[in-house]
Amino acid sequence: MSEVRVRFAPSPTGYLHIGGLRTALYNYLYAKHNNGKFILRIEDTDQTRLVEGAIENLINSLEWAGVKYDEGVFVENHKVIEKGDYGPYIQSQRLDIYKKYVEELIDKGHAYYCFCSKERLDEVREEQKVKGLVPKYDGLCRSIPLEEASMRVANGEEHVVRLKLPHDLDIKFHDLVRGDIVINTNDIDDQVLMKSDGFPTYHMAVVVDDHLMKITHIVRGEEWLPSTPKHIYLYDAFGWEKPEYVHLPTVLNKDRKKLSKRQGDVSVEDFREKGYLPEGLINYLALVGWSPEDNEEILTLEEMVEKFSFERVARTGGIFDKDKLDWVNGHYIRSSSVERITELAIPYLIKENYIDEKFASEKEEWLKVLVDTVKESISYIAELPEKVKFIFNEEVEPEDDNAKELLEGEHVPQLMNAIIEELNKVESIDMEYAKTFMKTIQKATGIKGKNLYMPTRVAITGSEHGPEMVNILYLLGKDNIIKRVSKILNKN
Ligand code: GLU
Repeated sequence: MSEVRVRFAPSPTGYLHIGGLRTALYNYLYAKHNNGKFILRIEDTDQTRLVEGAIENLINSLEWAGVKYDEGVFVENHKVIEKGDYGPYIQSQRLDIYKKYVEELIDKGHAYYCFCSKERLDEVREEQKVKGLVPKYDGLCRSIPLEEASMRVANGEEHVVRLKLPHDLDIKFHDLVRGDIVINTNDIDDQVLMKSDGFPTYHMAVVVDDHLMKITHIVRGEEWLPSTPKHIYLYDAFGWEKPEYVHLPTVLNKDRKKLSKRQGDVSVEDFREKGYLPEGLINYLALVGWSPEDNEEILTLEEMVEKFSFERVARTGGIFDKDKLDWVNGHYIRSSSVERITELAIPYLIKENYIDEKFASEKEEWLKVLVDTVKESISYIAELPEKVKFIFNEEVEPEDDNAKELLEGEHVPQLMNAIIEELNKVESIDMEYAKTFMKTIQKATGIKGKNLYMPTRVAITGSEHGPEMVNILYLLGKDNIIKRVSKILNKN
Protein backbone atom coordinates (compact mmCIF):
# COMPACT_ATOMS: atom_id res chain seq x y z
CA MET A 1 0.00 0.00 0.00
CA SER A 2 1.21 3.46 -0.77
CA GLU A 3 1.94 5.85 2.07
CA VAL A 4 -1.20 7.01 3.89
CA ARG A 5 -1.72 10.74 3.35
CA VAL A 6 -4.70 12.47 4.95
CA ARG A 7 -5.67 16.08 5.29
CA PHE A 8 -7.70 18.48 7.37
CA ALA A 9 -9.03 21.18 5.06
CA PRO A 10 -10.90 23.84 7.00
CA SER A 11 -12.27 27.06 5.66
CA PRO A 12 -10.91 29.92 7.74
CA THR A 13 -14.18 31.25 9.11
CA GLY A 14 -12.79 32.68 12.32
CA TYR A 15 -12.67 29.86 14.82
CA LEU A 16 -12.20 26.11 15.04
CA HIS A 17 -15.45 24.31 15.82
CA ILE A 18 -15.19 21.44 18.26
CA GLY A 19 -16.47 19.12 15.50
CA GLY A 20 -13.66 20.38 13.26
CA LEU A 21 -11.12 19.55 15.93
CA ARG A 22 -12.52 16.02 16.12
CA THR A 23 -12.19 15.67 12.32
CA ALA A 24 -8.60 16.89 12.55
CA LEU A 25 -7.95 14.48 15.42
CA TYR A 26 -9.28 11.41 13.56
CA ASN A 27 -7.17 12.34 10.55
CA TYR A 28 -4.16 12.68 12.81
CA LEU A 29 -4.83 9.38 14.60
CA TYR A 30 -5.28 7.51 11.33
CA ALA A 31 -2.13 9.02 9.82
CA LYS A 32 0.02 8.25 12.86
CA HIS A 33 -1.43 4.77 13.30
CA ASN A 34 -0.29 4.03 9.74
CA ASN A 35 2.99 5.94 9.84
CA GLY A 36 1.52 8.25 7.26
CA LYS A 37 1.41 11.99 6.74
CA PHE A 38 -1.14 14.52 7.93
CA ILE A 39 -1.59 17.73 5.96
CA LEU A 40 -3.26 21.03 6.81
CA ARG A 41 -4.75 22.76 3.78
CA ILE A 42 -6.64 26.03 3.94
CA GLU A 43 -9.79 26.18 1.81
CA ASP A 44 -10.42 29.87 1.32
CA THR A 45 -12.09 29.94 -2.09
CA ASP A 46 -15.21 31.58 -0.71
CA GLN A 47 -13.82 35.08 -0.63
CA THR A 48 -17.02 36.49 0.88
CA ARG A 49 -16.43 34.57 4.09
CA LEU A 50 -12.83 35.57 4.80
CA VAL A 51 -12.07 36.66 8.35
CA GLU A 52 -8.94 38.53 9.37
CA GLY A 53 -6.59 36.41 11.48
CA ALA A 54 -8.70 33.27 11.00
CA ILE A 55 -5.83 31.10 9.73
CA GLU A 56 -3.63 32.01 12.69
CA ASN A 57 -6.50 31.34 15.06
CA LEU A 58 -7.19 27.96 13.63
CA ILE A 59 -3.55 26.91 13.71
CA ASN A 60 -3.23 28.15 17.30
CA SER A 61 -6.16 26.01 18.34
CA LEU A 62 -4.72 22.90 16.66
CA GLU A 63 -1.36 23.55 18.22
CA TRP A 64 -2.84 24.04 21.67
CA ALA A 65 -4.76 20.80 21.32
CA GLY A 66 -1.56 18.97 20.38
CA VAL A 67 -2.89 17.78 17.02
CA LYS A 68 0.31 18.06 15.00
CA TYR A 69 0.56 17.88 11.24
CA ASP A 70 3.48 17.25 8.94
CA GLU A 71 2.80 19.40 5.94
CA GLY A 72 0.88 22.45 4.88
CA VAL A 73 0.27 25.79 6.54
CA PHE A 74 2.04 26.76 9.76
CA VAL A 75 2.52 29.90 11.84
CA GLU A 76 6.09 30.71 12.76
CA ASN A 77 7.20 33.97 14.37
CA HIS A 78 3.68 35.29 13.88
CA LYS A 79 3.89 34.67 10.14
CA VAL A 80 1.85 32.25 8.06
CA ILE A 81 4.30 29.96 6.24
CA GLU A 82 4.12 26.69 4.31
CA LYS A 83 6.09 23.46 4.46
CA GLY A 84 5.92 20.47 2.13
CA ASP A 85 6.43 19.39 -1.45
CA TYR A 86 2.87 19.82 -2.68
CA GLY A 87 2.22 23.52 -2.07
CA PRO A 88 0.83 26.07 -2.18
CA TYR A 89 -1.43 24.74 0.59
CA ILE A 90 -3.72 27.77 0.62
CA GLN A 91 -6.31 27.46 -2.12
CA SER A 92 -6.48 31.14 -3.02
CA GLN A 93 -2.85 30.77 -4.13
CA ARG A 94 -3.66 27.93 -6.52
CA LEU A 95 -6.03 29.70 -8.92
CA ASP A 96 -3.92 29.01 -12.01
CA ILE A 97 -3.90 25.32 -11.22
CA TYR A 98 -7.70 25.16 -10.98
CA LYS A 99 -8.09 27.18 -14.16
CA LYS A 100 -5.99 24.68 -16.08
CA TYR A 101 -8.05 21.72 -14.84
CA VAL A 102 -11.37 23.44 -15.46
CA GLU A 103 -10.27 24.00 -19.06
CA GLU A 104 -9.37 20.34 -19.34
CA LEU A 105 -12.90 19.39 -18.20
CA ILE A 106 -14.47 21.76 -20.74
CA ASP A 107 -12.30 20.33 -23.53
CA LYS A 108 -13.27 16.80 -22.58
CA GLY A 109 -16.97 17.73 -22.53
CA HIS A 110 -17.42 17.22 -18.78
CA ALA A 111 -18.08 20.88 -18.05
CA TYR A 112 -19.68 23.83 -19.82
CA TYR A 113 -19.87 27.60 -19.70
CA CYS A 114 -23.08 28.96 -18.26
CA PHE A 115 -24.21 32.55 -18.89
CA CYS A 116 -27.47 32.53 -16.96
CA SER A 117 -28.06 35.64 -14.90
CA LYS A 118 -28.88 35.52 -11.23
CA GLU A 119 -32.38 36.79 -12.05
CA ARG A 120 -33.02 33.91 -14.44
CA LEU A 121 -31.73 31.35 -11.95
CA ASP A 122 -33.99 32.79 -9.26
CA GLU A 123 -36.98 32.57 -11.60
CA VAL A 124 -36.23 28.94 -12.47
CA ARG A 125 -35.90 28.10 -8.81
CA GLU A 126 -39.19 29.82 -7.94
CA GLU A 127 -41.04 27.95 -10.70
CA GLN A 128 -39.62 24.63 -9.52
CA LYS A 129 -40.63 25.38 -5.95
CA VAL A 130 -44.19 26.16 -7.02
CA LYS A 131 -44.27 22.79 -8.81
CA GLY A 132 -42.97 21.08 -5.69
CA LEU A 133 -39.68 20.11 -7.37
CA VAL A 134 -36.24 20.19 -5.76
CA PRO A 135 -34.57 23.39 -7.04
CA LYS A 136 -31.89 22.59 -9.58
CA TYR A 137 -30.25 24.25 -12.58
CA ASP A 138 -32.43 23.50 -15.63
CA GLY A 139 -29.50 22.99 -17.97
CA LEU A 140 -30.28 25.80 -20.42
CA CYS A 141 -26.61 26.47 -21.29
CA ARG A 142 -25.65 22.80 -21.63
CA SER A 143 -26.49 22.84 -25.30
CA ILE A 144 -24.59 25.96 -26.35
CA PRO A 145 -21.88 24.76 -28.77
CA LEU A 146 -18.43 25.11 -27.22
CA GLU A 147 -17.21 27.31 -30.05
CA GLU A 148 -20.01 29.81 -29.54
CA ALA A 149 -19.62 29.74 -25.76
CA SER A 150 -15.85 30.27 -26.01
CA MET A 151 -16.46 33.28 -28.20
CA ARG A 152 -18.86 34.80 -25.70
CA VAL A 153 -16.29 34.23 -22.95
CA ALA A 154 -13.56 35.84 -25.10
CA ASN A 155 -15.87 38.83 -25.55
CA GLY A 156 -15.93 39.28 -21.79
CA GLU A 157 -19.44 38.02 -21.11
CA GLU A 158 -19.98 37.16 -17.46
CA HIS A 159 -20.09 33.38 -16.91
CA VAL A 160 -19.53 30.46 -14.61
CA VAL A 161 -18.42 26.91 -15.45
CA ARG A 162 -20.69 24.02 -14.54
CA LEU A 163 -20.20 20.28 -14.24
CA LYS A 164 -21.95 18.47 -17.10
CA LEU A 165 -23.43 15.48 -15.33
CA PRO A 166 -24.90 12.76 -17.56
CA HIS A 167 -28.60 12.14 -16.91
CA ASP A 168 -29.75 9.14 -14.94
CA LEU A 169 -26.38 7.73 -14.01
CA ASP A 170 -25.89 5.85 -10.75
CA ILE A 171 -22.76 7.07 -9.02
CA LYS A 172 -21.42 4.48 -6.60
CA PHE A 173 -18.79 4.77 -3.95
CA HIS A 174 -17.72 3.03 -0.80
CA ASP A 175 -17.44 4.70 2.57
CA LEU A 176 -15.21 2.86 5.06
CA VAL A 177 -17.69 3.55 7.86
CA ARG A 178 -21.03 3.61 6.04
CA GLY A 179 -20.48 1.01 3.38
CA ASP A 180 -21.66 1.24 -0.25
CA ILE A 181 -23.52 4.37 -1.31
CA VAL A 182 -25.36 4.97 -4.59
CA ILE A 183 -26.73 8.32 -5.75
CA ASN A 184 -28.36 8.97 -9.11
CA THR A 185 -27.26 12.02 -11.11
CA ASN A 186 -30.92 13.00 -11.56
CA ASP A 187 -30.78 14.01 -7.88
CA ILE A 188 -27.66 16.11 -8.30
CA ASP A 189 -27.27 19.63 -9.64
CA ASP A 190 -24.92 20.64 -12.45
CA GLN A 191 -22.58 21.99 -9.84
CA VAL A 192 -20.82 25.32 -10.48
CA LEU A 193 -17.10 24.52 -10.62
CA MET A 194 -15.73 27.96 -11.41
CA LYS A 195 -17.42 31.15 -10.25
CA SER A 196 -17.64 34.38 -12.21
CA ASP A 197 -14.83 35.88 -10.10
CA GLY A 198 -12.46 33.21 -11.43
CA PHE A 199 -12.38 31.36 -8.13
CA PRO A 200 -13.16 27.67 -8.13
CA THR A 201 -15.92 26.34 -5.89
CA TYR A 202 -15.10 23.99 -3.06
CA HIS A 203 -15.99 20.95 -5.22
CA MET A 204 -13.52 21.72 -7.96
CA ALA A 205 -10.70 22.77 -5.66
CA VAL A 206 -11.07 19.89 -3.24
CA VAL A 207 -10.80 17.23 -5.96
CA VAL A 208 -7.86 18.84 -7.74
CA ASP A 209 -5.99 19.41 -4.49
CA ASP A 210 -6.66 16.00 -2.98
CA HIS A 211 -5.39 14.44 -6.21
CA LEU A 212 -2.31 16.63 -6.59
CA MET A 213 -1.46 16.35 -2.90
CA LYS A 214 -1.69 12.53 -3.19
CA ILE A 215 -4.35 12.23 -0.48
CA THR A 216 -5.23 8.57 0.07
CA HIS A 217 -8.10 8.89 2.56
CA ILE A 218 -10.68 11.66 2.82
CA VAL A 219 -11.89 11.85 6.40
CA ARG A 220 -14.49 14.56 6.90
CA GLY A 221 -17.86 15.40 8.42
CA GLU A 222 -21.01 13.71 7.12
CA GLU A 223 -22.37 17.07 5.94
CA TRP A 224 -20.12 16.54 2.90
CA LEU A 225 -21.61 13.18 2.02
CA PRO A 226 -24.08 14.61 -0.56
CA SER A 227 -21.13 16.30 -2.30
CA THR A 228 -19.12 13.13 -2.67
CA PRO A 229 -20.84 11.83 -5.87
CA LYS A 230 -19.89 15.06 -7.64
CA HIS A 231 -16.32 14.51 -6.53
CA ILE A 232 -16.38 10.88 -7.64
CA TYR A 233 -17.63 11.98 -11.05
CA LEU A 234 -14.79 14.48 -11.29
CA TYR A 235 -12.15 11.85 -10.46
CA ASP A 236 -13.56 9.67 -13.21
CA ALA A 237 -13.76 12.56 -15.64
CA PHE A 238 -10.07 13.29 -15.12
CA GLY A 239 -9.20 9.60 -15.12
CA TRP A 240 -7.68 9.87 -11.66
CA GLU A 241 -7.47 7.19 -8.99
CA LYS A 242 -10.07 7.80 -6.27
CA PRO A 243 -9.22 8.07 -2.59
CA GLU A 244 -10.97 6.13 0.18
CA TYR A 245 -13.79 7.96 1.94
CA VAL A 246 -14.84 8.21 5.57
CA HIS A 247 -17.72 10.46 6.59
CA LEU A 248 -17.84 11.08 10.31
CA PRO A 249 -21.09 11.38 12.26
CA THR A 250 -21.94 14.96 13.14
CA VAL A 251 -21.17 16.05 16.69
CA LEU A 252 -24.57 16.58 18.34
CA ASN A 253 -25.72 17.93 21.65
CA LYS A 254 -27.80 15.88 24.07
CA ASP A 255 -31.02 16.83 22.22
CA ARG A 256 -29.51 15.32 19.06
CA LYS A 257 -29.27 18.74 17.42
CA LYS A 258 -26.17 20.20 15.85
CA LEU A 259 -23.91 22.00 18.32
CA SER A 260 -24.39 25.63 17.55
CA LYS A 261 -22.76 28.79 18.77
CA ARG A 262 -26.07 30.10 20.03
CA GLN A 263 -26.36 27.37 22.64
CA GLY A 264 -22.99 28.00 24.18
CA ASP A 265 -19.51 26.70 23.75
CA VAL A 266 -18.64 25.29 20.36
CA SER A 267 -15.21 26.64 19.52
CA VAL A 268 -11.98 25.14 20.76
CA GLU A 269 -11.11 28.62 22.01
CA ASP A 270 -14.21 28.61 24.27
CA PHE A 271 -13.03 25.43 25.97
CA ARG A 272 -9.51 26.70 26.24
CA GLU A 273 -10.76 29.86 27.92
CA LYS A 274 -12.74 27.84 30.43
CA GLY A 275 -9.53 26.12 31.40
CA TYR A 276 -10.02 22.67 29.95
CA LEU A 277 -6.71 20.88 29.49
CA PRO A 278 -5.81 20.02 25.90
CA GLU A 279 -5.32 16.35 26.73
CA GLY A 280 -8.71 16.26 28.49
CA LEU A 281 -10.56 17.83 25.58
CA ILE A 282 -8.80 15.65 23.01
CA ASN A 283 -9.34 12.46 25.02
CA TYR A 284 -13.04 13.19 25.38
CA LEU A 285 -13.50 14.32 21.76
CA ALA A 286 -11.93 11.12 20.48
CA LEU A 287 -14.74 9.23 22.20
CA VAL A 288 -17.46 11.28 20.49
CA GLY A 289 -17.97 8.87 17.60
CA TRP A 290 -15.20 6.36 18.28
CA SER A 291 -14.35 3.87 21.00
CA PRO A 292 -11.35 1.60 21.35
CA GLU A 293 -11.91 -2.15 21.37
CA ASP A 294 -11.33 -2.42 25.12
CA ASN A 295 -13.75 0.49 25.74
CA GLU A 296 -11.08 2.25 27.77
CA GLU A 297 -12.14 5.87 28.38
CA ILE A 298 -8.99 7.50 29.65
CA LEU A 299 -6.41 7.45 26.88
CA THR A 300 -3.28 9.37 26.09
CA LEU A 301 -2.76 10.58 22.54
CA GLU A 302 -0.21 7.79 22.00
CA GLU A 303 -2.69 5.17 23.17
CA MET A 304 -5.34 6.59 20.87
CA VAL A 305 -2.90 6.41 17.94
CA GLU A 306 -2.18 2.80 18.74
CA LYS A 307 -5.85 1.79 19.08
CA PHE A 308 -7.48 3.91 16.37
CA SER A 309 -9.32 2.33 13.47
CA PHE A 310 -12.28 3.31 11.27
CA GLU A 311 -13.98 0.01 12.09
CA ARG A 312 -14.80 1.41 15.49
CA VAL A 313 -16.10 4.77 14.26
CA ALA A 314 -19.87 5.11 14.74
CA ARG A 315 -22.16 5.53 11.75
CA THR A 316 -24.51 7.96 13.41
CA GLY A 317 -24.53 10.94 15.72
CA GLY A 318 -21.73 11.37 18.21
CA ILE A 319 -23.27 12.97 21.27
CA PHE A 320 -21.25 15.68 22.96
CA ASP A 321 -21.91 15.19 26.66
CA LYS A 322 -20.50 18.04 28.71
CA ASP A 323 -20.75 16.09 31.98
CA LYS A 324 -18.63 13.34 30.51
CA LEU A 325 -16.14 15.89 29.23
CA ASP A 326 -15.96 17.36 32.74
CA TRP A 327 -15.37 13.93 34.21
CA VAL A 328 -12.53 13.20 31.76
CA ASN A 329 -11.01 16.63 32.19
CA GLY A 330 -11.29 16.42 35.98
CA HIS A 331 -9.24 13.25 35.80
CA TYR A 332 -6.46 15.09 33.96
CA ILE A 333 -6.58 18.03 36.38
CA ARG A 334 -6.24 15.69 39.35
CA SER A 335 -3.33 13.88 37.77
CA SER A 336 -1.51 17.09 36.78
CA SER A 337 1.20 18.56 38.97
CA VAL A 338 0.18 21.32 41.32
CA GLU A 339 2.77 23.55 39.62
CA ARG A 340 1.03 23.21 36.27
CA ILE A 341 -2.45 23.84 37.60
CA THR A 342 -1.22 26.80 39.64
CA GLU A 343 0.32 28.40 36.60
CA LEU A 344 -2.91 27.92 34.69
CA ALA A 345 -5.03 29.16 37.58
CA ILE A 346 -3.20 32.46 38.15
CA PRO A 347 -4.91 34.40 35.30
CA TYR A 348 -8.33 33.32 36.60
CA LEU A 349 -7.49 34.54 40.12
CA ILE A 350 -6.21 37.82 38.72
CA LYS A 351 -9.38 38.24 36.68
CA GLU A 352 -11.46 37.92 39.84
CA ASN A 353 -9.24 40.52 41.48
CA TYR A 354 -8.27 38.01 44.15
CA ILE A 355 -4.59 38.53 43.46
CA ASP A 356 -2.40 40.66 41.20
CA GLU A 357 0.73 39.94 39.15
CA LYS A 358 3.02 40.99 41.98
CA PHE A 359 1.32 38.70 44.43
CA ALA A 360 1.49 35.86 41.91
CA SER A 361 5.23 36.17 41.56
CA GLU A 362 5.95 36.67 45.27
CA LYS A 363 3.62 34.12 46.83
CA GLU A 364 4.31 31.07 44.75
CA GLU A 365 4.30 28.60 47.65
CA TRP A 366 1.11 30.01 49.12
CA LEU A 367 -0.60 29.80 45.73
CA LYS A 368 0.47 26.20 45.31
CA VAL A 369 -1.14 25.31 48.64
CA LEU A 370 -4.25 27.21 47.57
CA VAL A 371 -4.54 25.27 44.33
CA ASP A 372 -3.66 21.95 45.92
CA THR A 373 -6.44 22.51 48.45
CA VAL A 374 -9.19 22.53 45.80
CA LYS A 375 -7.59 20.79 42.82
CA GLU A 376 -9.45 17.54 43.45
CA SER A 377 -12.82 19.23 43.30
CA ILE A 378 -12.74 21.04 39.95
CA SER A 379 -13.42 19.86 36.40
CA TYR A 380 -11.86 22.83 34.61
CA ILE A 381 -9.79 25.76 35.82
CA ALA A 382 -12.49 28.43 35.55
CA GLU A 383 -14.25 26.63 38.40
CA LEU A 384 -11.37 27.31 40.75
CA PRO A 385 -12.05 30.93 41.84
CA GLU A 386 -15.49 29.98 43.14
CA LYS A 387 -13.97 27.21 45.24
CA VAL A 388 -11.46 29.54 46.91
CA LYS A 389 -13.53 32.67 47.23
CA PHE A 390 -13.95 32.14 50.97
CA ILE A 391 -10.22 32.74 51.31
CA PHE A 392 -10.33 36.10 49.55
CA ASN A 393 -13.72 37.47 50.49
CA GLU A 394 -13.54 39.72 53.55
CA GLU A 395 -17.04 38.87 54.68
CA VAL A 396 -17.91 35.29 55.40
CA GLU A 397 -21.39 34.44 56.61
CA PRO A 398 -22.67 31.06 57.73
CA GLU A 399 -24.01 29.56 54.52
CA ASP A 400 -27.27 28.20 55.95
CA ASP A 401 -29.32 27.66 59.13
CA ASN A 402 -27.37 24.59 60.05
CA ALA A 403 -24.13 26.48 59.90
CA LYS A 404 -25.65 29.33 61.89
CA GLU A 405 -26.78 26.95 64.57
CA LEU A 406 -23.29 25.54 64.92
CA LEU A 407 -22.11 28.97 65.98
CA GLU A 408 -24.76 29.25 68.66
CA GLY A 409 -23.40 26.42 70.83
CA GLU A 410 -22.69 27.33 74.43
CA HIS A 411 -19.04 26.46 74.14
CA VAL A 412 -18.45 28.59 71.05
CA PRO A 413 -17.33 31.82 72.80
CA GLN A 414 -14.77 29.85 74.79
CA LEU A 415 -13.55 28.20 71.61
CA MET A 416 -13.29 31.49 69.69
CA ASN A 417 -11.47 33.18 72.54
CA ALA A 418 -9.00 30.34 72.76
CA ILE A 419 -8.29 30.62 69.04
CA ILE A 420 -7.56 34.34 69.33
CA GLU A 421 -5.45 33.88 72.41
CA GLU A 422 -3.40 31.12 70.82
CA LEU A 423 -2.88 33.04 67.58
CA ASN A 424 -1.73 36.11 69.45
CA LYS A 425 1.24 34.11 70.65
CA VAL A 426 2.68 33.78 67.14
CA GLU A 427 3.86 36.09 64.36
CA SER A 428 2.19 34.15 61.59
CA ILE A 429 0.95 30.70 60.63
CA ASP A 430 3.29 28.42 58.76
CA MET A 431 2.44 24.89 57.65
CA GLU A 432 4.09 23.26 60.66
CA TYR A 433 2.14 25.44 63.04
CA ALA A 434 -1.11 24.92 61.09
CA LYS A 435 -0.70 21.15 61.49
CA THR A 436 -0.62 21.34 65.30
CA PHE A 437 -3.06 24.21 65.77
CA MET A 438 -6.31 22.35 66.33
CA LYS A 439 -4.63 19.96 68.75
CA THR A 440 -3.35 22.95 70.72
CA ILE A 441 -6.85 24.45 70.88
CA GLN A 442 -8.24 21.11 71.98
CA LYS A 443 -5.73 20.93 74.82
CA ALA A 444 -6.36 24.50 75.88
CA THR A 445 -10.15 24.17 75.93
CA GLY A 446 -10.94 20.50 76.38
CA ILE A 447 -13.33 20.81 73.40
CA LYS A 448 -13.04 17.89 70.99
CA GLY A 449 -14.16 16.37 67.73
CA LYS A 450 -17.19 17.86 66.00
CA ASN A 451 -17.65 20.49 68.69
CA LEU A 452 -14.17 21.69 68.02
CA TYR A 453 -14.00 21.45 64.24
CA MET A 454 -17.46 22.41 63.06
CA PRO A 455 -17.82 25.83 64.69
CA THR A 456 -14.21 26.70 63.83
CA ARG A 457 -14.78 25.77 60.23
CA VAL A 458 -18.03 27.73 59.97
CA ALA A 459 -16.49 30.75 61.69
CA ILE A 460 -13.60 31.02 59.27
CA THR A 461 -15.09 29.67 56.02
CA GLY A 462 -18.85 30.06 56.42
CA SER A 463 -19.40 26.43 55.58
CA GLU A 464 -19.59 23.14 57.49
CA HIS A 465 -17.77 21.24 54.83
CA GLY A 466 -14.79 22.01 52.75
CA PRO A 467 -11.15 21.34 52.18
CA GLU A 468 -8.50 20.26 54.63
CA MET A 469 -8.49 22.41 57.79
CA VAL A 470 -4.71 22.60 58.01
CA ASN A 471 -4.56 24.17 54.54
CA ILE A 472 -7.35 26.61 55.36
CA LEU A 473 -5.57 27.82 58.49
CA TYR A 474 -2.35 28.30 56.60
CA LEU A 475 -4.03 30.02 53.65
CA LEU A 476 -6.12 32.42 55.74
CA GLY A 477 -3.29 33.37 58.05
CA LYS A 478 -3.30 34.85 61.51
CA ASP A 479 -4.95 38.23 60.90
CA ASN A 480 -7.79 36.93 58.79
CA ILE A 481 -8.65 34.22 61.26
CA ILE A 482 -8.61 36.60 64.21
CA LYS A 483 -10.84 39.00 62.27
CA ARG A 484 -13.37 36.32 61.37
CA VAL A 485 -13.42 34.76 64.80
CA SER A 486 -13.77 38.15 66.53
CA LYS A 487 -16.78 38.86 64.38
CA ILE A 488 -18.50 35.79 65.75
CA LEU A 489 -17.69 36.82 69.31
CA ASN A 490 -19.03 40.33 68.78
CA LYS A 491 -22.26 38.95 67.43
CA ASN A 492 -22.89 36.73 70.45
N1 GLU B 1 -13.43 23.14 3.41
C1 GLU B 1 -14.30 22.13 3.90
C2 GLU B 1 -14.71 22.50 5.31
O1 GLU B 1 -14.65 23.62 5.62
C3 GLU B 1 -13.58 20.79 3.83
C4 GLU B 1 -14.44 19.63 3.52
C5 GLU B 1 -13.58 18.44 3.17
O2 GLU B 1 -12.83 17.98 4.05
O3 GLU B 1 -13.60 18.01 2.03
O4 GLU B 1 -15.07 21.71 6.14
